[in-house]
Amino acid sequence: MTDREKVEKLAHIIEFRTVSGKPGSFEMAPFVQLQDYLRKAFPAVHKNCKREIVSEGSLLYTLPGSDPSLKPIMLTAHLDVVPAEDGEQWPHHPFKGTIVNGRGWGRGSVDYKIGVAGMLQACEDILNEGFLPARSILLAFGHDEETGGMNGAAEIVRLLRKRDTQLSSVLDEGGYIYTLPWLREDVAVIGIAEKGYLTLRLIARGEQGHASVPGIRTAVGALGECLSLLEKHQIPARLSEPVDRMFQATKHLFNDSLTEFAALSLADKTRIIEKWSLGNAFIRTTTAPTMLQGSSRENVLPAEAIALVNFRPVPGDNSNDIVEHVKAIAFPLGIEVDFEDTGHIFEPSSEDSMETDDYRSICEAVEEIWPGLTVVPGIFPAATDSRHYGRIADNVYRFVPAHLGESGLSVLHSEGESVSVEDYLDAVEFYTLYIRKMCGGK
Ligand SMILES: [Zn+2]
Repeated sequence: MTDREKVEKLAHIIEFRTVSGKPGSFEMAPFVQLQDYLRKAFPAVHKNCKREIVSEGSLLYTLPGSDPSLKPIMLTAHLDVVPAEDGEQWPHHPFKGTIVNGRGWGRGSVDYKIGVAGMLQACEDILNEGFLPARSILLAFGHDEETGGMNGAAEIVRLLRKRDTQLSSVLDEGGYIYTLPWLREDVAVIGIAEKGYLTLRLIARGEQGHASVPGIRTAVGALGECLSLLEKHQIPARLSEPVDRMFQATKHLFNDSLTEFAALSLADKTRIIEKWSLGNAFIRTTTAPTMLQGSSRENVLPAEAIALVNFRPVPGDNSNDIVEHVKAIAFPLGIEVDFEDTGHIFEPSSEDSMETDDYRSICEAVEEIWPGLTVVPGIFPAATDSRHYGRIADNVYRFVPAHLGESGLSVLHSEGESVSVEDYLDAVEFYTLYIRKMCGGK
C-alpha cells in the first residue's frame, strides 16, 4: 500500500458527515455507511479482529494477544465530529476530504479522524506483516464523544466491565505537538490528567412588568452583578502535579522574558501564566459564563433572568468546592444556584503514572519519529471519552501525533481544520511503533 493510498483513505473517512447531534436527533446513516467503508478499506483488521457494533454507531475491535496474563491496551478515537456548515469560512469544503498543498482538509481531520484512520492503518500494516501480538489490543471508536459519550464510550465500558476487562492503559486524544504561548518552540504534550466539567444555572428573580416603570433593582441587573463578581473573584489557582512537571520539563524553552520563571513563587508564577487563557486553564478551575436568558421583548421586564456558567475544575478541586464558591457570591445578591444537568457533571480525572511501560513507550515512539522534540507531561483542559474509559484502565494517556503549531488547541473545532499529510503518515508510524513496543509478540 502506497502512502498516497493511505492518505486517500483518511480523506474518504473525512467525507462521511458523522456529525454529533443531541440525544435523539442523531442522523445515524453516515455512521452506518462509514462502518461499511472501514470494512472494505481495512480488510486485514476485519479478518483478524473481532468487531462489535455498540449502540448502532460505535465500534469496538479486539485483536487477541497470545499471552492472557498481559492486560490489554486500548487505543481510542471517536467517529463523530462537531457540525460545520457548508459556506462557512472554510478554505476547502469541510466534508469533501480535499488534499491540497500537503494537507488534508475537513471537519474532524484532527478531532479525531486522524486517530480512527491512523489506528486502523497501523493495525492493518502490522497484520499484513504477519504480526501476532502477545498482548491484546482494543480499538474503541465512540460515536457521541462530542456530546458526552453516554451511548458510545460509556456503553463500550459497560460491555467490557461485564467481561471483567481491566486495561493496562488507554491512549486517547488530549495532548498534541504544539507551541505553548510562553515557550519558544513546539513540545509534545502527553496528557496525564484532564479537567472536570460542570455547568451551574444562576437564577435572579424580579418583578415582571412594563419596562417604562422598572424598580431600582432588576433581575437582569442583579444577574449581571453576580457574573461580574464571579469573574473578579476567580477560584484560586492550583498548580497540579502534571502542570508543575510540565513547567519543570520545559524550563529550557521559556521565552526570553521568562528565564527566571521556574524559580518564582507560586503566586508570581500564577500572575504570569494566567495572562494567557490557556495558561489560566492549566492552573485554575475556570469560570465561563456561556448563556443568558431574560425577557423575550425589549420593553418587558423579565420575572427571571438566567445565566449558565460552565466550570472546568483542575485536579484537586471538585464540584462541591465550585458550588460553595458560587453560592458565597450569589446568595447575598438573592440569586439561586442550581446544577444545570446532574447527569453531566464530571470530576477532574486522577493523575496518571509516568512510571509505566505504556507511558515510556509513547515517549520513545515520539522521540524515534521526531528526534530532538521535547516530550512533556501535561493536562488537557477539556474532556474526552476517557472520562468513561478511565474507569476500566490503570492509566490514561492523551496524545494525538499532530502538529497544531502556535494556534495550539484552538485548531480543534475551528473553521479550516486540517492535518498535514506528513503528520498523518507519521501518526500511522507512531501507532505502529507504540503497538509493537507494548504488545511484543512476533
Ligand atoms: Zn475529540
